[in-house]
Amino acid sequence: MEEGKRTIAYLCPECRHSVVMERTVFQLAASAAELPCPCGKSAVRVEIMGDRCQVTVPCLYCGKEHTVVCSTQSFLHEKCLAFSCAASGLHCCYIGEEEAVFAATRRLEEALDKVDGENEERGAFLDEIIMHEVLSELKEIAQRGGISCTCGSKEWKLQVNYSSVDLFCAQCGSALRIPAATDSDLEDICCKYTLQIKKRD
Ligand SMILES: [Zn+2]
Ligand SMILES: [Zn+2]
Ligand SMILES: [Zn+2]
Repeated sequence: MEEGKRTIAYLCPECRHSVVMERTVFQLAASAAELPCPCGKSAVRVEIMGDRCQVTVPCLYCGKEHTVVCSTQSFLHEKCLAFSCAASGLHCCYIGEEEAVFAATRRLEEALDKVDGENEERGAFLDEIIMHEVLSELKEIAQRGGISCTCGSKEWKLQVNYSSVDLFCAQCGSALRIPAATDSDLEDICCKYTLQIKKRD
């Protein structure tokens, strides 16, 4: 009988790479195994104790280690076991057949890219493109001297927010808020030739 192999994958919290390793069933059963990331800063530990198997995984999401116990039977024979981070609910480790583990790891990487992407957007603007367009419209109106305040001032300051832009009169401090979140916000500003800040009473 051919000697079985198991593929183990996890996300290294130190270098943030996915690590995929292969070990023979014999290697895993012989002694407690430490499966390190090539960066050397983290490792998965596998210990088979009779019919129970204990896996300790360093977790990318919560920064802690998760210890999972499963049956040795499923550890050695399941097509693809998935262990989840208790804090985030996301998968942090896969054990199983090479192909299935690789496929699961790829899906996880894609999901992670998306999460990272959403985080970036959240940090900047609600809608990057709309904000960019609204600002360039504002610039055009400003260039033809179209921004003024009812107090008579033509000097103003600009503040860019998450989903809007504020124009402040440099003299009386009154403000005009221009929403910059949706297509209709953009249409509104596009059809304006001038903008007037209304002086606070
Ligand atoms: Zn690493
Ligand atoms: Zn976790
Ligand atoms: Zn003013």
